Amino acid sequence: MRSEKVVSIPDNLSNIRIQPAECEKHGAFDQKVTMILGRALKSGCPECQRVANEEREVAEKSSKAYELRLALSRKLGDALIPKRFTTRTLENYQADNEGQRRALAFCRHYVKVFDEIMKTGRCMVLIGKPGTGKTHLGVAMANELLRHTSRTAVYRTVGAVLQAIRATYDRQCERSEADILASLIGPDLLVLDEVGVSKEQPSDFELTTLFAIINGRYEQERPTVVISNLAADQLDGAMGERCVDRLREGGMIVVPFEWESQRGKEGF
Ligand SMILES: [Zn+2]
Repeated sequence: MRSEKVVSIPDNLSNIRIQPAECEKHGAFDQKVTMILGRALKSGCPECQRVANEEREVAEKSSKAYELRLALSRKLGDALIPKRFTTRTLENYQADNEGQRRALAFCRHYVKVFDEIMKTGRCMVLIGKPGTGKTHLGVAMANELLRHTSRTAVYRTVGAVLQAIRATYDRQCERSEADILASLIGPDLLVLDEVGVSKEQPSDFELTTLFAIINGRYEQERPTVVISNLAADQLDGAMGERCVDRLREGGMIVVPFEWESQRGKEGF
């Protein structure tokens, strides 16, 4: 009688061995060889594996970020950053004096530690004379997040926000006031420019809109960057005290722009 040889799969320990191997890109690595049913399965370079995983993660993240941004701009009915500002970056901000270098450093740091900022919703105020590059830096922070991270960021002037909301009162408008507010509360960063630009007493409509946005973001612990030509002590009057209180929560960063206007100078 012929006895049949029983093929049994040995336990894991006995059928795995490690051998030296070489990756063209990353050099020597320990290759795991697993014997299964007479076949040798060899593991690949761990570094190649890590890079491939990372690339897949980035691709997944960026397609998700792209969709989020697309949905957001649909809600806004416009681009996240107005077209004429899309080229303004931290790199092409011209810092010629100490104040500008400091302001640039503050803004650079703010986006660098943005993950931390997101945990506390810490706000920033760029404040001071017109023509000193506040808008450039504000836009640049939003652009930096959009270009180099999967964050969402929106830049708007107060005037554009009020106009967009007024437009929703037209029956033909497909967006509602709630859509506009949600699209300003939703992004990871909102840069709100030209606060108090009229220098007149703000209307109730302006005050309640500003509060709805700033308070909405505060409740979600999302940071806001506010830009204004006013002096720091005039902000209360322009935005309303409750609004400025919300900005102050978590330690508002105030960046003063105190040098003379650079407008009209070469390269600005
Ligand atoms: Zn490799």
